Formats: sequence, C-alpha cells, structure tokens
Amino acid sequence: MIERKSADLVVLGAGPAGMAAACAATESGAAVLVVEREERAGGILKQCVHDGFGLVRYGEKLTGPEYALRDAATLRAMGIPVMYDTFVSRVARDGDGFILHCVNRDGITELRARALVLATGCRERTDRQVFIHGDRPAGVYTAGLAQYLVNVQGLKPGRKAVILGSGDIGLIMARRLCLEGVEVEGVYEIKNEPSGLSRNVRQCLEDFSIPLELSTTVLAVHGRRRVEGVTLARVDDRLRPIPGSERELACDTLVLSVGLIPENELARSLEVPLDGVTRGPRVDQDMHTLADGVFACGNAVHVNDLVDYVSESGAVAGEAAAAWARGGRKARSLVPLKAGPGFLYAVPQFVDAASERPPTVYFRSNSTMPDGATVSATTAGGSVAFSRRWQALRPPEMERFTLPAGTAFADEAGLLLGLERSGR
Ligand SMILES: Cc1cc2nc3c(=O)[nH]c(=O)nc-3n(C[C@H](O)[C@H](O)[C@H](O)COP(=O)(O)OP(=O)(O)OC[C@H]3O[C@@H](n4cnc5c(N)ncnc54)[C@H](O)[C@@H]3O)c2cc1C
Repeated sequence: MIERKSADLVVLGAGPAGMAAACAATESGAAVLVVEREERAGGILKQCVHDGFGLVRYGEKLTGPEYALRDAATLRAMGIPVMYDTFVSRVARDGDGFILHCVNRDGITELRARALVLATGCRERTDRQVFIHGDRPAGVYTAGLAQYLVNVQGLKPGRKAVILGSGDIGLIMARRLCLEGVEVEGVYEIKNEPSGLSRNVRQCLEDFSIPLELSTTVLAVHGRRRVEGVTLARVDDRLRPIPGSERELACDTLVLSVGLIPENELARSLEVPLDGVTRGPRVDQDMHTLADGVFACGNAVHVNDLVDYVSESGAVAGEAAAAWARGGRKARSLVPLKAGPGFLYAVPQFVDAASERPPTVYFRSNSTMPDGATVSATTAGGSVAFSRRWQALRPPEMERFTLPAGTAFADEAGLLLGLERSGR
C-alpha cells in the first residue's frame, strides 16, 4: 500500500544545509518535511571528529558531530518531521508543485509539495575518474570512506598508506591515519600546489612530518587481492607523466582525495540547469534554481570548505522556499551575475532584481594570487556597485562578500564581477 503525505515544502537531505533550510522554512511558517537516506541527521559532519567547525557561526571551534548536534536539537525542538532511512526514487513536477516517490523499510510513500530544497551534499571522485591503471585490489579507498571506517566504524583500513591528492579530506585523513598507527608514506599531488586549505597543510602534514610531494601522481596500483604498492611519477606543467621519473612504492592502502562533485541526480531528473564549473544548479541570491520552485543549498550547489557558509545558504534557501510555497512571490526578474577572467567561479550566477535580499556572492579565484587582488561588481552602464581588495587569493579558499542593499540590478545585462590582480 502506498502512503500519501503532503507539505508546503520538502527538504532533501538532513546535513547542515538541509537542517538550516528546514528550520528557517519552519520559522517562516511553512509546513516542512525532511527526507534523509541515512538513519541520523548530520550528513558528512557525523564522521568529521576533528575540530574547526563553527568558527564563523558560533565563534567556537566545534567538532563536526558537535556542530551537527546543535542543528539536530533545534530540528527536534521545532517538531520538524524527518523521514530517516528513506530514499527518493523518483521526483517529478505535478501541476505547480512536485510529487516524490520515497522508499523505506515501511514501503513506498508518495509526497506532494509546492517547493523543494535540494540539500543532498556532494560525492567523492573515485579512482575510475582519475584514470589509475592496474587491478582493483582491496585497499583502495576514497578519503571520505576511509574517514567513515576509522571514525564511525572504528576500523583500521591498512598498515602503510599512500594518499593521492591534497584535498582537505586527504590532508585530514593523513593525520588521522597517522594518529591511528598507520604508516603514512606521503601525500602526492598532481598540481604544483596543494588543493586543500593552508591551515590543513600546516596542522595535518607539517606538524606530523608527513611529506607532501607536488607535481606527482599515481600511475598504477599493484596487487591482486590486496594493494601491494603503487607506481608514482612526476608530471610536467601540462600534468603529463615525465618518462623515466616512475618509481615503485610499497603500501597496502591507497587513499584518494581527488575532488568532490555536487550530488545532483535529482536536479537532473527535474531538468534543473547545472553550472559546468561548479557542477551544481545555477541559482539566484535566494538559492532558487532556474527551475521554478526548486531551491538548492550547501555542497549540492558548490563544494564549500566551511560548514558555516553551508548553513548560511541553507537558511536562505529555506526562508525563500517557504515564501515561494506559501504564494508570497512568484514573478522573478533574473539578470546574470557574470564572473570575469581570474575567477574559477562565482555563486549565485543570477540575481533576482525582484528579491529584496542583497546578494551574497561566494567565489574562488582560478589561480593563487599571493599579492592579493581587487574584486569589483560593475553594472553594464559602468557604475561600480562594489569593490574590495583581498590580501591574497587561493583557489582552495572560498571567499565571500555581500553586495550593498539597494544595488540596481534592473539592467538586463546584469552585473559583471571583475578581478584585478595586485603586484603585476
Ligand atoms: C572530510 C571533511 C572535512 C571537513 N572539515 C571541515 C572543517 O574543518 N570545518 C568546516 O567548517 N567545514 C569542514 N568541512 C565542510 C563541511 O563539513 C561540509 O561542507 C558540509 O558538511 C556540507 O553540508 P551539506 O549539508 O551540504 O552536505 P552533507 O553534509 O553531505 O549532507 C547531505 C545529506 O543529504 C543526504 N542525501 C543525499 N542524497 C539524498 C537523497 N537522494 N535522499 C535523501 N537524502 C539524501 C545525505 O545522506 C546527507 O545526510 C569538511 C568536509 C569534509 C568532507
């Protein structure tokens, strides 16, 4: 038998983004239902036992579980219903709302909602996506999986580990494995600079004397049943292996930290337009995607390095989705917010001129700018709405600013974000 439920809005995912969205929407008076595929709320934070979460939002250094527990307690105190252990198998438009088919151990539930908030986080790239040759023996883990095994399951994934990629999870896992008595041979990064935050390079590698080798990659994995070693090679400035630079390294574990991709299967099935760089939906400053009634937040939109900003985007999405679902505002007046040369990307990609919310822009530079840069926002008519200098910019470090209230967006050409590098 199919159970039927309805709500003003359904939030998909009970990580920090989804919890913030659900709480903000409830505060705005909407009837909210959260669907979470795992048995508990908290998302990726549940396995992040290190500290460093919440510095912006709470001015405190919390662990991931501590940060998540605060939101989970608020969710409970507000009486927001959450369907745990529930997988959304299908989502489609239904009139001016949506219909979702959810599956859990009690059977199938059909949900109807006027708005959706996608807060499904991101997933890790695997060895298949970075073209490593050789067999597929046991002992190859993504960094998040290794983190789950150690921190949640209490398992030691191996004795001697090589870490490929210097993303934050790889750096954090290098330290974590070292603390658990695993011999960490080193972290190998194909680019000529680390992909993770500078503080993680210092605190996770330098403080533990774990070597970091740049411009180096893993070419092949050896071993049939279990990893026995890897072939490493240096790469040139076009990231091609340099012949003759290959060397073998014995290990029984290979941990991959080679990038995260927003989880957007459901957005695709709703034909929500995605951004080619962020791989998440293109949104306006209300975190409203280009598909009416579909909102998105957190790592489902772009990969964030600080959870505080994930929660910030969730609260915006929840409040705006509640207003949409309750019929507060329907007509949007979207103008582009274009990131010019020097940016890797900027979110949001659009501004809704009809929204009262001043846009908060999250961006990354496309290269390291150690002497800093000036970021500006200019209208097609040439008037500068915003200008500020940053001391230094690095692609791993996401930056953020809010455009002044009252900025005129009515021009169809929208706003151009400019980035002028200092010291050149
Ligand atoms: C290893 C690691 C270390 C980090 N360290 C720090 C740090 O030190 N400081 C800091 O501030 N930030 C840190 N971050 C970043 C921060 O934790 C993340 O940015 C944040 O957790 C992302 O939140 P989210 O809600 O967008 O996604 P997630 O936390 O991934 O939550 C998404 C949720 O959606 C659920 N879901 C997905 N698909 C579906 C579906 N189809 N149906 C139902 N549910 C679904 C998932 O089960 C999950 O619960 C770290 C991240 C990682 C991975």
